Amino acid sequence: MPLTFSSAWSVPDPPVYRKRTGPLAVEMGREYALAQLEVRKTESRKIVRPDNHRFPAGSPMYFYCHSCGDLSDTKSESYNPRTDPVSHLCAECEALKGKGWLPQPS
Ligand SMILES: [Zn+2]
Repeated sequence: MPLTFSSAWSVPDPPVYRKRTGPLAVEMGREYALAQLEVRKTESRKIVRPDNHRFPAGSPMYFYCHSCGDLSDTKSESYNPRTDPVSHLCAECEALKGKGWLPQPS
């Protein structure tokens, strides 16, 4: 893919939020949920994560799951971290944590 002026210097495309439908993986059992975590880790390596400061003023801010790297939260630029804290886990990893299944980082 040729490097164009726009991809090199202007505003980056926002990260693509892969919409999930259906029940959370934890509903299918621990083994399945942990396998899906590995799938997310692999898939999320492909996510382009532009620095939030590269977006124009007023753009949303993007945050990524500390566990799998998927998009975990989107906030308005003026969000208040005290009343509206950032989710550092995606919904799937939050559910894993709730079950006590989230592997500790090694
Ligand atoms: Zn996650």
